[in-house]
Amino acid sequence: MLGLMQDWPLLLHKIIDFAAVQHGGQEVVSRTIEGPIHRETYREVRARALKGAQRLARDGIKLGDRVATLAWNSHRHLESWYSIVGIGAIYHTVNPRLFPDQIAWIVNHAEDRIVMVDLTFVPLVEALADKLPTVERYIVFTDAAHMPQTKLKNAVPYEEWLAEADGDFRWVEFDERTAAGLCYTSGTTGNPKGVLYSHRSNVLHSMAATGGDGLQVLANDTVLPVVPMFHANSWSLAFSCPMKGAKMVMPGAKLDGASVYELLESEKVTFTAAVPTVWLMLLDYLRKNNLKLSTLKMVGIGGSACPPAIIRAFEEDYGVEVRHAWGMTEMSPVGSTGAMKPAVAHLPREQILALKAKQGWAPFGVEMKITDDQNRDLPWDGVTFGHLKVAGFAVAKSYFKGEGGEILDENGFFDTGDVATIDPNGYMQITDRAKDVIKSGGEWISSIDIENIAVGHPDVAEAAVIGVRHPKWDERPLLIVVPKEGKSPQRDSVLDFLNGKIAKWWMPDDVQLVKEIPHTATGKINKMKLRETFASYRLPTA
Ligand code: ADP
Repeated sequence: MLGLMQDWPLLLHKIIDFAAVQHGGQEVVSRTIEGPIHRETYREVRARALKGAQRLARDGIKLGDRVATLAWNSHRHLESWYSIVGIGAIYHTVNPRLFPDQIAWIVNHAEDRIVMVDLTFVPLVEALADKLPTVERYIVFTDAAHMPQTKLKNAVPYEEWLAEADGDFRWVEFDERTAAGLCYTSGTTGNPKGVLYSHRSNVLHSMAATGGDGLQVLANDTVLPVVPMFHANSWSLAFSCPMKGAKMVMPGAKLDGASVYELLESEKVTFTAAVPTVWLMLLDYLRKNNLKLSTLKMVGIGGSACPPAIIRAFEEDYGVEVRHAWGMTEMSPVGSTGAMKPAVAHLPREQILALKAKQGWAPFGVEMKITDDQNRDLPWDGVTFGHLKVAGFAVAKSYFKGEGGEILDENGFFDTGDVATIDPNGYMQITDRAKDVIKSGGEWISSIDIENIAVGHPDVAEAAVIGVRHPKWDERPLLIVVPKEGKSPQRDSVLDFLNGKIAKWWMPDDVQLVKEIPHTATGKINKMKLRETFASYRLPTA
């Protein structure tokens, strides 16, 4: 017997309809690429998105077509997503930090018909345009006054293009499982692979990811998504803020400490989210200028492991609660968040801080397990490491155009490529990427654990640990550190600092100082690059 409730398809454009009705006067504030701060309301976002949808339809874009965006977080980028999904087309976020050849590769693979692009990235696209045969038109996110001279095919300033529509248009209706968004993983090995989100998966994910125990967003919040919309849907915030009615503050191209601080204060931001490197820059700026955070209540941190020193600084020096999150493009992306459950809430402060450094627990809609190499379940004892596997309503079942073949195991679980422990309370801790784990004498050493402790050393700004070949042990850890400005920590002082905080046999065999650690397009330490750099390095113990 079927239930007798309405079929109300979970379509993304219903979110902006809702925001316009219930929170119509709430603001979306943007730092524009042109310079000034721009303000508009959710009512205006919806009206302009409807015009965009009408205009896209007039350009011949239809159900299932891909429209690329190469843009920072702004009101225009936000509007464009609703325009695109509102006619059943697919927003394809392109990460401008990828190598130009990779950008060309994914635009071709996606067969994007239109590219919507920020002024910042016009030169980048111009250099690639010859290699992008599927693109019929470029829409530049600006007005006529700021439009650059360009030979890009059918290029038009967004504002003019939009003004050609009157907005007398209705969203298209279709099945909630229809594709809505496309985002390629950064493909540190092999070609990038496209993750194809549906309306349903994005709606459910936005609700699950931003509940009270998650990246908490409420109607009276002001949210600054520093995490870009091209980095895994800005962790849902472009959907969940209008869904909850929160005010949005879009930072545009300026993500440095001073610019982020200015917006946090001037717009009275209560919640913000980004990768750890952004917070290192902000904290550094706060300290150097002896500043306080007067309105911020919570900061969401994920994308790579959040060093305990960042958690302690936010919570103890600035009174801001840290919500550590883990996830990946294939999971829409949020897979776990680290709120305190009642079973642990009474623990002493130092243990709470240690728990916050773990990646947290999975919300409803994410099933999680750890397995051994034979896909047998491993215990949730907080000690046993295993392959972290997930299933859920917002987890990929295959990649776009079938790249990579079958990606689920026989029970329908996706292997995240991460290695983790899960404790009896459900708190998961990433110990490594499977490909970065250091195998010493048949045992695994967690590079992330050592890195997290090393960045607590007073003279260390950033740390990375890689496995280096060793004749007796297969691999041994090498600790690579970037010193803080004006410091040059000695090898023994760094090793002494680790002493007693990690198992003896995890102790790095050497420490090397470098000016800079390379990062990937999504802000992670690029270990492949580091392994290349240190390919001919020999350990003193070898
Ligand atoms: P990529 O395209 O580089 O895979 P994602 O943003 O999808 O980009 O990266 C997902 C991966 O990032 C995860 O599988 C995990 O290894 C890492 N990651 C994300 N969040 C965290 C976190 N809080 N702690 C540790 N690692 C994390």
